[in-house]
Order: sequence, then C-alpha cells, then structure tokens
Amino acid sequence: MKELYEIIIIGAGPAGLTAGLYGSRSNLRTLIIEKGLPGGQLLNTEIIEDYTGFEHVTGIELAQKMEAHARKFGVEIKTGEEVKSIRRSGDLFEVTTDESAYRAITIVATAGGTAQKLGVVGEEEFAGRGVSYCAVCDGAFFNGQVITVVGGGDAAVEEANYLTRFGSKVYLVHRRNEFRAQKILQDQLFQNPKIEVIWDTVVEEIKGDREVDRVLFKNLKTGDTREHPTQGVFIFIGFKPNTYFLDDHPAHDESGHLITNDRMETNVPGLFAAGDLRAQLVRQITNAVGDATVAALAAEKYITHLKHKGLKE
Ligand code: NAP
Repeated sequence: MKELYEIIIIGAGPAGLTAGLYGSRSNLRTLIIEKGLPGGQLLNTEIIEDYTGFEHVTGIELAQKMEAHARKFGVEIKTGEEVKSIRRSGDLFEVTTDESAYRAITIVATAGGTAQKLGVVGEEEFAGRGVSYCAVCDGAFFNGQVITVVGGGDAAVEEANYLTRFGSKVYLVHRRNEFRAQKILQDQLFQNPKIEVIWDTVVEEIKGDREVDRVLFKNLKTGDTREHPTQGVFIFIGFKPNTYFLDDHPAHDESGHLITNDRMETNVPGLFAAGDLRAQLVRQITNAVGDATVAALAAEKYITHLKHKGLKE
C-alpha cells in the first residue's frame, strides 16, 4: 500500500518550506518532494534584502534557515526526487515520482517555474558555453569579459547589477524602451558605470565557435541588425510555471499560472497552490510565504472537514 500523507507539497522553495512548516506544526503528516535541493530560487540569488526582518542575507543562508525551521516541526523532505504525475482518485491524490508513489488527502503545489527560453538559434547549442540563466551560478566564469543580459524585469535588472562584479562591461538589452523592473533596482542600474542599456532591441541569434563570441542584435524600431561581441549571454525573460505534473489541468491563466481562490485552492478540490506558479500580481518571497501559510492552513480545514464527512478512498 502506498504511504498516505495528509499534505504532500511539491517543491521546497520558500513557499514549499513554509507550507511544510505550517502543515507539520498543525500535526498533519506532511511530506515535501523536491527535485533538487531545498531553497528553490533562493539558491540562485546572491543577496536578499527585501525579506522583512532580514536586511541582508544570502540566498543560501535563508534557504538553510527556512529548511531547518520547517524540519523543527517534523516535516519530511525528500530531495532529488521528481514528481511526474498527480491524479485524483476518490477523495485522495495519487502522486507518482521518478522513484516512488504516494497518496495524499491534499496537495500544495509550490513548484515555482523554469526559466523561459528565448528560442533563438544558438541558445540551446551554447547553453553552458556562454549562455546562462543563473548569474550566481555562472557569473564568475566571465571574469573580465563582456557580458550581455537580456530582459527588462526585476531579474534582468538585478542580475545585470550583480554581474558587473565580474564583467569588464555589462550590456542590458531590452525589447522596449522602459523597464518593468522595480524603481529601486533601476536606480541602482542607472548609477552603475559598468552597465550600458540597449533599448528596443532583441537578440536574434547567438554565435560562436566552441563558445559564444557574439550575438546578432535587431533594433525593433529601425529594423537594423548588427553583431555585438560578447562572451556571456544571461537570459532573464521570465518564468514558465511548473505545473506539468498535474493531470487534472486545473484552471490557469494564459501563461499557465494556476488560478486560486482566497484560500489558495484551485478549482480541483484539495489541490492548493502557492508561490510563483500561482496567478498573481507580484512574485516575491514575502507573498510566496504568505500564500503558503494560507494554503497549508486551508488544507488543514479541508482535511478536518473531509474526515468528519468520511473519506472515500
Ligand atoms: P518578468 O517580470 O516576467 O519580466 C520578463 C522580462 O523579459 C520583461 O521585461 C519582458 O519584456 C522580457 N521578455 C519576455 N519575453 C521576452 C522575449 N522573448 N525576448 C525579449 N525579452 C523578453 O520576469 P522576471 O524578471 O524573471 O521576474 C519574475 C518574477 O519574479 C516577477 O514577478 C519579479 O517581480 C520577481 N522577481 C523579483 C525580484 C526582486 O524583487 N528582487 C528579483 C527577481 C524576480 P516586456 O517588459 O516587454 O514584457
């Protein structure tokens, strides 16, 4: 018989670890399944300075603190295990991973997202040989070299700033003539003498021999194309929500983010969502942990109600 949990949480980023904390603290049998290591995007972030109470903390340190805090209340965490499918069966969910299978009364999906790809020639070919989606992981490989960052959101602007500690020069190329990033991040960017912004421009191709040595730019206003020498291309053009394992196709918006009510419950009863894979205005650590708190406590109420009614397996 597959093991039965009251809550299974998919993903151990800030949302998953918070749901784990509240689930286990409510004395519910709670399991987190994480395909990598606990921390999620925190592990790709050097310094965090907008999580209340932590003026300056490394992503790794915050991840470790969150994991230790959740474990203190007894949550089980399985790492290096990837959820492949979640299917509803009676009142329960069947969770199949690449290693095992479990049953759960509720699911809290907190699997975040995967970096969007540009989809241009050379991107795949040069991945890991000049093309990167993680500044903290790969920035140091480009010491003294020319770096080009693509995007105009918080991630692109923040990471362009960060990458100036390695690059001799950092170009930030954006398809429009204004950023959607927060003003404070833009202010830091415009004060940084090592950064040059290239507006109204897209990368059409990434070129090189064994490694990247140039990209092909196209100016969307004039239609002009030109080659731009660069060794590093860092792409930050958003995230695609990780919902591929959900067999029930819950309601979602046009970009695939799950739609929930104010209890963080999707239109599939017992399936809750929190953090970056949920449709919402902002995607910050603070609101991810807030969503996850609501999701875990709402799951607890759902479980109590279902047990009272009589659970159908
Ligand atoms: P995002 O906010 O969705 O921004 C994506 C950027 O990439 C936009 O500027 C977009 O341009 C551009 N873009 C999208 N597709 C493109 C394409 N095919 N070619 C060229 N450019 C393209 O994504 P994000 O910056 O990764 O952030 C994701 C979420 O995490 C956001 O909610 C963000 O607030 C949050 N976040 C917060 C922080 C922080 O607070 N410090 C740091 C990182 C991320 P347009 O503007 O023209 O659409």
